[in-house]
Amino acid sequence: MNTIICLGYEGQPCGREVKRTGPSQKRCFQCAKEHDKDRARNWYKNNPERAKKKMHDRNLKCYVYVSARDHYRYIFGTKTNPPLRTYKDMPFEDTWNPNKGGSFRTAEKEILEDIGTKLPGQSLHIIHHEKGFVRGNLKWADLKEQSENRTLNRIVFLQRRIKQLERENAELKGLHNGLHALSPMPKSSNTTEA
Ligand SMILES: [Zn+2]
Repeated sequence: MNTIICLGYEGQPCGREVKRTGPSQKRCFQCAKEHDKDRARNWYKNNPERAKKKMHDRNLKCYVYVSARDHYRYIFGTKTNPPLRTYKDMPFEDTWNPNKGGSFRTAEKEILEDIGTKLPGQSLHIIHHEKGFVRGNLKWADLKEQSENRTLNRIVFLQRRIKQLERENAELKGLHNGLHALSPMPKSSNTTEA
């Protein structure tokens, strides 16, 4: 009495008597699995447009997820690779950062909320490199925009590098002067200095 007769699935009668495990159960475990597969297959066949959109959405999500993960790796490096030179020290949104309790899933969700769907040929793109891979600083861009931006990013990188070298230079000068202040040279030996 607590059993059912399995209905089988599309083109495959079963008729096995199995123990009832759910209130609206009509099939044995194996047939239920096949029946679900059939239903999914039929849905895709009967709803080609919606199926296409579903696939597109899934691919887009995957793309954004992978982009977030890749940028994380560019910026922070991996166990085997150092950060990329032009990405090193770039800010990365904390709530997307798995190292700070965030996740790439959150990045995927929020980025899609913020910038919507992408057109063919576009890819995810950082607007201002100095602001970093953060919310509000990403957009979809085509190749032309991307290469223009790469040039700008290169400039930002070089400006940062120049500042860094200037700082180091100033520090060295300070060190140099400091050493002289500690042990002032007698006037006569000043001629050896260049
Ligand atoms: Zn069955």
